[in-house]
Amino acid sequence: MIVACPYCGNNAKFITSKEFYGKDYGTNLYSCRPCDAYVGTHGRSKTPLGTLANRSLREMRKRTHASFDPLWKSRRMSRSEAYQWISEVMQLPPEKAHIGMFNEKQCFELLKHIRNLSLVHF
Ligand SMILES: [Zn+2]
Repeated sequence: MIVACPYCGNNAKFITSKEFYGKDYGTNLYSCRPCDAYVGTHGRSKTPLGTLANRSLREMRKRTHASFDPLWKSRRMSRSEAYQWISEVMQLPPEKAHIGMFNEKQCFELLKHIRNLSLVHF
């Protein structure tokens, strides 16, 4: 599978977690060293979990997950309902409604929706 780095456009390098971290986490990664960008895979597969992210986008996605995950972890809604909700408010098809695929602007937008939801319903 060929995965391009969204920052420089070059092909990302496919490496194991052992090569990347020096420790085997049972996953692989696509990495672009010059851009300090990477993304993990589903287990040992070659399927990336989203798009490559540099440091600031990784932080932003982490922050967004930290706000989003309690929506379904608290059982206010099911996990699939929560992702359906992302798809609706972000106006994205379900397969694109994942924080791992978002850029920073989309993370900001989702955070805003989460805040509004918290104010209205809970
Ligand atoms: Zn790059």
